[in-house]
Amino acid sequence: MDIVHLLPDHVANQIAAGEVIQRPASCLKELVENSLDAGATNIQVIVRDAGRTLLQVIDNGKGMSQTDARMAFERHATSKISRVEDLFSLRTMGFRGEALASICAVAQVEMTTRRQEDEVGVCLEIDGSKLVHQEPCACPVGTNLKVKNLFYNVPVRRKFLKTDQTELRNLLTEFYHIVLVYPRVQFTFVHNDEVLLDLPAGNEKQRIEAIFGRGRTHAFTSNLIDLRTDTELVSIRGFVSKPESSGKNPQQYFFVNGRYMRHPYFHKAILTAYSGMLPGDYAPSYFIYFDIAPEAIDVNIHPTKTEIKFADEQAIFQILMAAVREAIGKFSLAPTIDFNREGELEMPLPTAPGNTTSPRSGTGMPHIQVDPTYNPFHRTQPATPRNWTTLYPDRPAAPALSDDAQLPLYEHDIPTGIPYQYADRYILLPTRDGLLIINQHRAHICVEYEALLQQLREQQGVSQQLLFQEILDLTPDEMAAMETILPDLRAIGFAIDRFSKTSYGISGVPAQLPQSDALMMVRDILQAVMETGTDVQQRWQEQIALSLARSIAIPYGKILTQEEMQDLCDRLLALKTYSRTPDGKRVVTLLSNNELENRL
Ligand code: ADP
Ligand code: MG
Repeated sequence: MDIVHLLPDHVANQIAAGEVIQRPASCLKELVENSLDAGATNIQVIVRDAGRTLLQVIDNGKGMSQTDARMAFERHATSKISRVEDLFSLRTMGFRGEALASICAVAQVEMTTRRQEDEVGVCLEIDGSKLVHQEPCACPVGTNLKVKNLFYNVPVRRKFLKTDQTELRNLLTEFYHIVLVYPRVQFTFVHNDEVLLDLPAGNEKQRIEAIFGRGRTHAFTSNLIDLRTDTELVSIRGFVSKPESSGKNPQQYFFVNGRYMRHPYFHKAILTAYSGMLPGDYAPSYFIYFDIAPEAIDVNIHPTKTEIKFADEQAIFQILMAAVREAIGKFSLAPTIDFNREGELEMPLPTAPGNTTSPRSGTGMPHIQVDPTYNPFHRTQPATPRNWTTLYPDRPAAPALSDDAQLPLYEHDIPTGIPYQYADRYILLPTRDGLLIINQHRAHICVEYEALLQQLREQQGVSQQLLFQEILDLTPDEMAAMETILPDLRAIGFAIDRFSKTSYGISGVPAQLPQSDALMMVRDILQAVMETGTDVQQRWQEQIALSLARSIAIPYGKILTQEEMQDLCDRLLALKTYSRTPDGKRVVTLLSNNELENRL
């Protein structure tokens, strides 16, 4: 008996779906891209349970005929290309004709659609690739597509879905990537009957504001500088953040020819342009739109791939870096001009000849008042000589005396004398093995971290009431992450409650915390948690403990009393391990007795 046979269509589609539709977010991307390809100017996204039970996209695009509507769900059915050569002159987002076939293989799909020229539209229902119902129906021009119970027939896929908060964040991230390139199209995003985003048609800057402005006028975009450069190879436009408004929660987006892309190398070009202007872990926000001849980039054949190869990456790196430098430079030379109003960049700016790319070179610009003590990064208290080093807590420490490789385990060190503070940042502690040199700030992080983690696990945090409630405004994806970690924030001593659709009110903070930093603190935690992910509770608890420990820890430059040093050393040496901070920075180094003898 012969055993080789062709797979039935619904099986083949399900296999293909594994590649194209990995999670609700990839399904949403395909649907919205189709609406854009159909020329829609208004697109509504309606989601239930982070897309598990419903993902619906309603557009006012050109719609489909009865036959096309049925055909669209077949594999390799597309209206967008018919010859291989078409691939190289693509103007649409989709072209593989795989998305709808894949989606209907792993979900229950309902669609109504009508073209302008048709009297009636068509309504059809497809369930696991099988057409179960089709009839003419009255409906508006455009397409209304519902994807229900995604992966209902693929339990393995369903199991791989993350928490609702995570999937919702994935949906929003995917949504941002698209809506940021189509500011002239109106979008709404509704989740469980709540309007999370309502984006009117506008320009790029207004779109950015509508997403990241957290409801305040120009809160976000007033910190952006316009950037534009046109060369034969590429034209680049967009926005970068003013150096002093850069922070720990940067929004970083690259787009090429109307598509989102990731590009670590170009990312570096931007960081290089800012180098020296940002402290420690601060990073700039950027929204950069590249326009380049399609031949100069690798056609993005894979539907889920966001990394794109450019033919001339080094040249573009240089162009991008220079453009960013110039933008920042122009900005710092003309501090009084309001760059938020579009078009003002066209004004010739008074710059010293040949000096436009060097930031903060004040030559040729009269009447600039410079406050030498002004520090844009210090948000809460004025910098004082005594605590200035805390602004840059992670600046590189002095070279270590011994290398990690030669370090013995410290677990059994026994102090043999009293601690001594050196250079306002180290504690020197004589031990049986030699002189232990302790970084005071990092040591304190270690001990506070362990204590906080324990309080968190045992839900024993103690709260102190704030004088005034503080309001924390969040973007929809941040709201979702907040929802996840809320119980733990409360366990550690934060009093936090939902304040509005887009904000939380903070009325109490853990007793150990300085009160003034409540907002910054929660924002830092949220950012750290979002970076590590919100799927494993242990992980985000560790992030919460680390963020808090960092802000409680004694800063460099603080003079310690004998008791304080003694207490810190005792608590540090009592830890199971203390050679590194939870995020891997070295805490202690040993000048061993042997080493000392060899030297002297
Ligand atoms: P592709 O987008 O790669 O062509 P899809 O499976 O996503 O493949 O869609 C198949 C076809 O269905 C498209 O080529 C298009 O003609 C039609 N189509 C899909 N969605 C829409 C829509 N929202 N409005 C109009 N036509 C659509
Ligand atoms: Mg498509």
